[in-house]
Amino acid sequence: MTLAIANQKGGVGKTTTAINLAAALAQTGSRVVLIDLDPQGNASTGLGVEYNARKQGSYTLLMGEADAKTLLRETAIDNLGIITASTELVGAEIELITEDDRQDRLKTALQSLDGEADYILIDCPPSLGLLTLNALVAADGVIAPLQCEFFALEGISHLTRTIEKIRKQFNPSLRTAGIVLTMYDRRNNLSELVAADARSFFGDAVMDTVIPRNIRISEAQSHGTPVMTYDPRSSGAASYTTLAQELRARLENPSN
Ligand code: ADP
Ligand code: MG
Repeated sequence: MTLAIANQKGGVGKTTTAINLAAALAQTGSRVVLIDLDPQGNASTGLGVEYNARKQGSYTLLMGEADAKTLLRETAIDNLGIITASTELVGAEIELITEDDRQDRLKTALQSLDGEADYILIDCPPSLGLLTLNALVAADGVIAPLQCEFFALEGISHLTRTIEKIRKQFNPSLRTAGIVLTMYDRRNNLSELVAADARSFFGDAVMDTVIPRNIRISEAQSHGTPVMTYDPRSSGAASYTTLAQELRARLENPSN
């Protein structure tokens, strides 16, 4: 099962969700591979991979210079491997522009991981360019983090239209695996309003589990570790563990 974590807006919780959902799925025994597809490399940093250990990663993969198994490296979390992002990735969109198979590069490259991983999670950059297109062509489902803020719904509507187009043109099996409300603040009425709007507009596509705004989540990232290991008793850790359970149940029983 390959899932792209996408939203063209920056700062909505994509990378945070990629890291912590990956760790939560790995903790329950699934083999998980995270692909860092953002030139900023925040997922690689958030999982404690040093800069000088990132030279070979998703850029190398897209260019077809090494296969996914070779590029896969283990993290400090059992069952969680990563293909890191390096700064070269920033040039990939332009370098691939003349290639006929430019949107299929990731899908083709990930085939060598068949049987290696129960879940492949792809952390997308904050745009709907060629990198995200590669992720959406390679994916079975999209997880879209929605930050409980003004204008959040517009961004998600744009994303769902894009998913629709990609389904028609490139990847008929692509579906929305779930919209995840992130950085929910109980003390802020706006959070509640945005959450209610999202649920009335997108219905069951919105996951029941809500990720609260929790300082432990951002602290964990600066320590290069998922929140489950940084502070297992935090509300942030609990929410991502619950999200992983809900996602697993949804994927096993798509009608729910
Ligand atoms: P994106 O990948 O969509 O750009 P990030 O996951 O990097 O967004 O999140 C943006 C910022 O918000 C980061 O500094 C991150 O630590 C912080 N953040 C994300 N989710 C939470 C949360 N639930 N509680 C507190 N801070 C969060
Ligand atoms: Mg990010």
